[in-house]
Amino acid sequence: MSEHKELYLGYSTDKAVTPFFQDFLEALEQEKLMKSKCTSCGAEYLPPRQHCQKCLSECTLTEMTEKEAKLYSYVVVEFAPMSLSSKQPYVVAIGEFPSGLRLTAHITNLMAMPEVGMPLRLGFEAKEKMVTYKWLV
Ligand SMILES: [Zn+2]
Repeated sequence: MSEHKELYLGYSTDKAVTPFFQDFLEALEQEKLMKSKCTSCGAEYLPPRQHCQKCLSECTLTEMTEKEAKLYSYVVVEFAPMSLSSKQPYVVAIGEFPSGLRLTAHITNLMAMPEVGMPLRLGFEAKEKMVTYKWLV
């Protein structure tokens, strides 16, 4: 008999494993998206990383102040995992902020097919204990 396993796509403070990630989740609950910045070389990460991918130094969290982005790329998901099957088909998009940082999230309010280069706006969705970020058009 096959066992169904699903990728966990949301964020919940119940599942935080490090103080760094806990801080990220608590900010998200207040609809603040945090990025991280390397204390040594200044590289930035979104979603945040605790340690720099380039020099392995510690990173610190800072609020992502950019809210507007452009659609860099997207995929239409026709066959979703069970937890998202009621939403299929849906669009997962990579938005690029003016700073060059990119973020992958769902676009939840599309009325037509997306177009690369179209403007996106960062949004949040709260359901009980879980807050997620998303793109809005
Ligand atoms: Zn670094």
